[in-house]
Amino acid sequence: MPLLQIEASDDRNLRRTLETLPAGAYTCDAAGLITYFNRTAVELWGREPRLNHAADRWCGSFKLYSPDGTPIPHDQCWMALAVRDRKAYTGREIAIERPDGSRWFALAHANPFLNEQGLLVGAVNVLVDITDRKHSELVLARFGAIVESSEDAIISKDLTGVIRDWNGAAERLFGYTAAEAVGRSIIMLIPADRLDEEREILARLRAGERLTHFDTVRLRKDGQPIDVSLTISPIRDARRNIIGASKIARDIGDRKKDEAKIYSLMTELKEADRRKSDFLATLAHELRNPLNPIRNAVNLLRLKGSTESELELCKDVIDRQVDHLTRLVDDLLDISRITRDKLDLRKERTTLESVVNAAVELSRPVIDRRRHELTVNLPPEPIHLDADVVRLAQVFMNLLTNAAKYTEEGGHIRLTAKRDGSQVVVAVADDGIGIPPEKLPNLFEMFYQVEGARERSDGGLGIGLSLVRRLLALHGGSIAAESAGIGQGSEFIVRLPVAEGESAVEKPTSPQASVVTRAGWRILVVDDNRDAALSLAMLLRITGNETQTAHDGLEAVALAEKFSPDAVLLDIGLPKLNGYEAARRIRAEPWGKALLLVALTGWGQPDDRRLSREAGFNHHMVKPVDLNTLMGVLTELKRSRD
Ligand code: ADP
Repeated sequence: MPLLQIEASDDRNLRRTLETLPAGAYTCDAAGLITYFNRTAVELWGREPRLNHAADRWCGSFKLYSPDGTPIPHDQCWMALAVRDRKAYTGREIAIERPDGSRWFALAHANPFLNEQGLLVGAVNVLVDITDRKHSELVLARFGAIVESSEDAIISKDLTGVIRDWNGAAERLFGYTAAEAVGRSIIMLIPADRLDEEREILARLRAGERLTHFDTVRLRKDGQPIDVSLTISPIRDARRNIIGASKIARDIGDRKKDEAKIYSLMTELKEADRRKSDFLATLAHELRNPLNPIRNAVNLLRLKGSTESELELCKDVIDRQVDHLTRLVDDLLDISRITRDKLDLRKERTTLESVVNAAVELSRPVIDRRRHELTVNLPPEPIHLDADVVRLAQVFMNLLTNAAKYTEEGGHIRLTAKRDGSQVVVAVADDGIGIPPEKLPNLFEMFYQVEGARERSDGGLGIGLSLVRRLLALHGGSIAAESAGIGQGSEFIVRLPVAEGESAVEKPTSPQASVVTRAGWRILVVDDNRDAALSLAMLLRITGNETQTAHDGLEAVALAEKFSPDAVLLDIGLPKLNGYEAARRIRAEPWGKALLLVALTGWGQPDDRRLSREAGFNHHMVKPVDLNTLMGVLTELKRSRD
């Protein structure tokens, strides 16, 4: 661009022109001294520079920066460069700081000019304020960054549904790139059965409405439906006309999945809670059931003049009902131990035959009472198992007893076993009331009972099969139930791993069951339940022993010294002094070293046994105690000591 040629008279005209400019303008001489500035320049600078003064050279601003924020010394500003380089610099962006710290942006247009002799005499700089534009750009850039970095898909469309903007999250969510999506109709995201939705959305937008948290389904590029929550707002132009809509889509697939999970957990919990309530009602009923016949038998025993056979009958009734009660309570305890992982298995190398025999023995009374015919079919060769015989027998006893309970009298029960590779499959089948197919999956849940089946049974708590499944799992086995339906009989199929090779488990040392060989013991029975102490003492007395009873720990220690028994049967949960402490005190006395101390308690966990061993007990027995077993244990202990 040719340089400005200015004559002295022009100078005045130029100043007059600059005065009217809606932009900042100033001039300086070839040495940079400011020779003129207009009012707008003063407003922009926020100060008035001194004219023709060495302190204000090249520019009247307080401070100067390049657009990226780097400071520019005044003698490096565009005005200075224009003079130095004898060259025009126009449209150069700069930032100016006022003395009050505020900043504004301008385009500098610096033009050197020459006098009539062609000498460079100075320059003029016109500063156009672009602060508003700069701010808009910054705001736009900031919004752009926010939209781009959003985790939610942000889309805009016009009122005909054509996509106009598409951010990174929209790419990730829907699978289309911005290039693929912009310009196409939003319909591509909408499942065919939801097209009405879009019509309704557009109608509401045109009415100026905003839609929030609109949960719906949209389609990905690959055709997969996705759960999204939409917030849709109208976009207006400067005259407030609606020209389109912005749409924020949030992927709620995970939330939906979580909701479904929570819902199903809640349903399960409600169901478990309902079953627990049912169970408590059943439990009260089942515990009360045996009490009635016991109460009747006791009343009968009280009556004078009962015949011998009536007395026998009463004893049988009590015996049977106590057995039944004990089994119920044992099942309850077992289930609670298993759920707390506290059940210890005493595994040993055994055979399926001995397990099945024990189970048949245990369930024989109910099978016989209901006059069922039982057929047992085992393979001829022995099938070895590493198992807790008692627990596994309990499994098959449960299945056989159920078969007997849920089959009309005089039915048929079959137990069949066959090898299947490394497993043995044992099936217990009956021709009883059967199970509706839809109930089969629930049978092994705790407290589950098929409605209508209860009345047919001898009662139960709905925990037998749950116990069976868990006991089998502890043996590495499994169980399944089959039935063709109501009245079609049922079949329970157990799978267990067969033990191969050498026995991997040690045979546990259990006290030998022995017969009562010696009566005439002196026995102190200690229990805070007076009836329990009294009845046991009575039984011991009838079988030829001398007994005394005590009901708390202190009394136990005192009486043990006075009575000098051969054995003390000591409850653990005693008032004043608990059983462990009483045992310790007895053992600490010279007279207490040799006597036999047996803990009789309701607690039989390994920890309980360890504690009683540490307190000086010779043996730990769990109530209810069978007299024969008790005498066997005493005799055995005595023998091993002698
Ligand atoms: P229960 O104490 O009620 O017998 P279980 O857990 O042993 O509890 O059995 C659960 C339910 O399974 C029973 O209430 C009964 O409805 C059903 N069931 C179990 N065994 C049989 C069977 N052999 N035939 C028909 N129904 C059975």
